[in-house]
Amino acid sequence: MTKKQIFKKSRVVTIDGKKLRPESLMMSYGYHPEWSEGALKCPIFQTSTFVFESAEKGKAFFEIAYGLRDDVSQEQLGLIYSRLNNPDLEILEDRLTLWDEAEDCAVFESGMGAISSCFTTFLKPGDLVLFSEPVYGGTDYFLNNILTKFGIDVLGFQAQTDPAEVEQMLKRSGKADRLAMVYIETPANPTNDLVDIGAFSDLAKNYSTSEKRVLVAIDNTFLGPLWQHPLKHGADLVLYSATKFIGGHSDVIAGACLGSAEMIKDVKATRTFFGAMAGPWSGWLLLRSLETLKMRMTQQMENAKIVADFLTTHPKIEKVYYPNLLKEGSKQYEVYKKQCLSPGSMISFDIKGGEKEAFRFLNGLSMIKLAVSLGGTESLAEHPATMTHSDIEPAMQKAMGITEKMVRLSVGVENVDDIIACINHALENA
Ligand SMILES: *Cc1c(COP(=O)(O)O)cnc(C)c1O
Repeated sequence: MTKKQIFKKSRVVTIDGKKLRPESLMMSYGYHPEWSEGALKCPIFQTSTFVFESAEKGKAFFEIAYGLRDDVSQEQLGLIYSRLNNPDLEILEDRLTLWDEAEDCAVFESGMGAISSCFTTFLKPGDLVLFSEPVYGGTDYFLNNILTKFGIDVLGFQAQTDPAEVEQMLKRSGKADRLAMVYIETPANPTNDLVDIGAFSDLAKNYSTSEKRVLVAIDNTFLGPLWQHPLKHGADLVLYSATKFIGGHSDVIAGACLGSAEMIKDVKATRTFFGAMAGPWSGWLLLRSLETLKMRMTQQMENAKIVADFLTTHPKIEKVYYPNLLKEGSKQYEVYKKQCLSPGSMISFDIKGGEKEAFRFLNGLSMIKLAVSLGGTESLAEHPATMTHSDIEPAMQKAMGITEKMVRLSVGVENVDDIIACINHALENA
């Protein structure tokens, strides 16, 4: 039996026929103590390579890894070399599939590693990618400056645009027959605009043919893996910057891509040859993070709801962007009800005034730190227009709703009264 088979056999996923929830499985799924001298916790397999029991076994592992034989199942893939697989990363991948109910997962050394590998796996010269705007700055750069270099066309649409209108725009572009992927980030960073995953999955189906399936990929970093499950709404691929909520402690950079076993097999091949695999230490840190993922995200969301309500009442605040504040009956509200399980813990808000007032506020923060990144246990604030989204031209920023007076806040797990006191003090400054 291979090590992987021992892992699979050891999965306790039901009690009396009742399926255990992901948060109950995060401490044990995919790992068996017998495999490591009874160690309760999965050790760090800090090794670059693995010893084969025999030359025949080594040959067989490579046949599977390189697809030289097709009569084999995933289960038999043995451990070869840590750029291909490693126990800490395999267990992490298995655990990550539980939240999204995905067939398989591939982890990467960063969110950008996952996103760029997803694009390069499924796109070829001549293809068109339709994508929602704004998207994460790195993704925006990759789409506009790297994919285009390889003859892949990109077409952006504003996140709040009606899907029917986007389809008209696609038709007018004259490139609709070349559509290969719809790429969506929802909620959008930093405006919290929502994009209807189901509607765009339908659009992708309409442009799929028997030879070509138009794929839908969702960057689920802001609400996932707890509060939004894109695969259930028709998406094909889910992407994460695991640096954010999944890691949750602002101490590790990592990413993940989830989807069907068939697609993830191809994504893993790209990962092997680009060399974007995460290391065992990152894998181990993320396994530890996953044990408290639900607790952290729940507390952060509860805090964020209170903070958002507080902000709406403050005389120095002009506007608050937070899904929980969407007006009932609005289109955005309908999308929210359809695909989100909670508003999450990312809030943006406009301070009355402009950049000067926003900076005074940021400089007046004490407990809350002035830093980019998000999703960690500590609250962080930043200025999108001049920081995370500064490479977007001012006119485009305006079209996307990124104002000079906008501050983005990632709400942490601190006592909510302290978070509000810190914000209140900084607002007096502004
Ligand atoms: C941070 C982030 C990324 C990039 O992830 P890295 O781990 O920094 O490479 C991608 N998408 C979103 C929404 C992000 O917030």
